[in-house]
Amino acid sequence: MKHITQHYINGHFVESRGTETIDLINPANKRVIGRVLLGNEEDARDAVRAAKKSFEAFSRTSVSERAEMLQRLHDAVLAREADHVAARTEEYGGVPLHNKFSIRGAAKVFLNMKKTLENYSFSKRLGPSVVTMKPIGVAGLITPWNSAIFMVCNKLAPAIAAGCATVVKPSELSTIQTRILAECVHDAGLPAGVINMVNGRGNVVGTELTRNPDVAKISFTGSTSTGKTVMCEAAATIKRVTLELGGKSPHIVLDDADADKAAVFALEAVFRNNGQACIAGSRLLIPAHRLEEMKAALLRALPAWKVGNPNQADTVIGPLVNEIQYNRVQEYIRKGITEGAKLLAGGEGHPNGLDAGWFAKPTIFTNVNNDMTIAREEIFGPVLCVITYKTEDDAVRIANDTIYGLQGWISTSNSEHGREIAGRIEAGAVMVNESFDLLDEAGIPAGGVKQSGVGREFGIYGLEEYLEPQAVFAR
Ligand code: NAD
Repeated sequence: MKHITQHYINGHFVESRGTETIDLINPANKRVIGRVLLGNEEDARDAVRAAKKSFEAFSRTSVSERAEMLQRLHDAVLAREADHVAARTEEYGGVPLHNKFSIRGAAKVFLNMKKTLENYSFSKRLGPSVVTMKPIGVAGLITPWNSAIFMVCNKLAPAIAAGCATVVKPSELSTIQTRILAECVHDAGLPAGVINMVNGRGNVVGTELTRNPDVAKISFTGSTSTGKTVMCEAAATIKRVTLELGGKSPHIVLDDADADKAAVFALEAVFRNNGQACIAGSRLLIPAHRLEEMKAALLRALPAWKVGNPNQADTVIGPLVNEIQYNRVQEYIRKGITEGAKLLAGGEGHPNGLDAGWFAKPTIFTNVNNDMTIAREEIFGPVLCVITYKTEDDAVRIANDTIYGLQGWISTSNSEHGREIAGRIEAGAVMVNESFDLLDEAGIPAGGVKQSGVGREFGIYGLEEYLEPQAVFAR
């Protein structure tokens, strides 16, 4: 049982000034594993003051100094890999395969950003001026509970590379994981105040960050509805915003695709991370005449997705993060049935023998049309909607008939044709026969169009979200 009563402010672990306490619960067995004393607006303001003070000197550090800090952050996160993995399993229900990817991926973000930084040109002459990219100022970094550590690192790396001081507001559901990260940050020994971390509710600590006039930039990852609130609040002081929001990503199986390969890929795209992934390929678009063949292939691929205790090495789907998320997924499954979709696999309730935790059944719906609630709203659980199409134009139209635009997926035996179709999908990224593990390779940008977000993370695209050009005219 862990009692977390401290934030990380100005290089020290300091007691929370808040009065509200919440329990942290292991979603695999519903046992209380921790208790957090949440922070309040005062804590957030202390953190912003510390960040503002440190920004003055930090913004003037050299590229090589900041590159070295990124290296130290990478090393510090990796040094605690086992602790991160244990916390991710216990607090979130993360499974072995994905835990490793998530924590190593989080550490690697710092190294990749170091490379980007070392090759970045901060200043160039343009006609009579010199244009210099300058750090924006204090950045408020607000993050969700899914892949919590990865999400925080995605924001810290470019902010530090740019020379911005930061205040992190992680999800209250990830406090044990982010406490370990705060210890890593402390071990990395950056100047006091450059990275601060405050636990607390979104509508308390998060709101303070979005309103505080000394915060110049907000980078937010979370749901589209909260993202809209964040954007509105940030508008009052014209903060720069980066928003990484929800998705309802289409996966188009082209007519030339191998059925078994497409089925394996489709389940990976939707069930990874217990179905709680923003980029999940949750709408599977199949040529109508291949429906029966694809249904059989999906059923052949399904047994590989073993639901179970996240501590077991062969488990690939763990529990959902909490009761709210479990009930939300159940509600969507009921709605799917009521609106006329047919269950090919899964359905309501717990898988056999797994009623001790918030385990949902991996569920596949057929007979879905794109107007149904389950095809329009982000479920954020292991639920796949199969929709049929007649022509490729029809598939592209259905794929784009959504408010979201985070990710697309394509299965095909002809990658060149797959790339052409990818170009017609309204999304920040499209994976043609490729999988999750390529995230953040070579500084590839990630982010959404339409209501999936504003701005990008990773590489030069992510770095420039924390920089602003200044033109100085002098011959
Ligand atoms: P959420 O929007 O409920 O919360 C995200 C964060 O915002 C939390 O730290 C929360 O405390 C804080 N928050 C809540 N209200 C706030 C407010 N009024 N002002 C400021 N901060 C506030 O999201 P969640 O349930 O934690 O995460 C799941 C969502 O995140 C899904 O919609 C998922 O698609 C999205 N997500 C997107 C990406 C991406 O890269 N696009 C990645 C991961 C998750």
